Amino acid sequence: MAQLEAGLDQRWRQKALCRGMSVDLFVIKPPRSLKPEHLERIKKAKAVCEACEVKRECLCFGVAFDEAGCVYGGVYLSERQIIKERRRMRREGGLAA
Ligand code: SF4
Repeated sequence: MAQLEAGLDQRWRQKALCRGMSVDLFVIKPPRSLKPEHLERIKKAKAVCEACEVKRECLCFGVAFDEAGCVYGGVYLSERQIIKERRRMRREGGLAA
């Protein structure tokens, strides 16, 4: 349910620490596999997220809307990572089966 709420109610974005920053830091979609420069960007993006108070809402949004290739809530969302996060959210009761 939290995941759905994060998708419908996006007021959390007003508290996003990354507001006004370049999306290029958070959108990392390599043509094939991640290269060292991609990993460096992911590391920088995660460092911003670390201090963000809306990490949970952000991660729920990224997972709900299949935002693979981006950092949401301090997690780089590969397709595999999205599946993993969905399983975790189901276990925690934040996502309907
Ligand atoms: S968790 Fe990261 S990507 Fe999400 S709103 Fe906060 S700073 Fe931005």
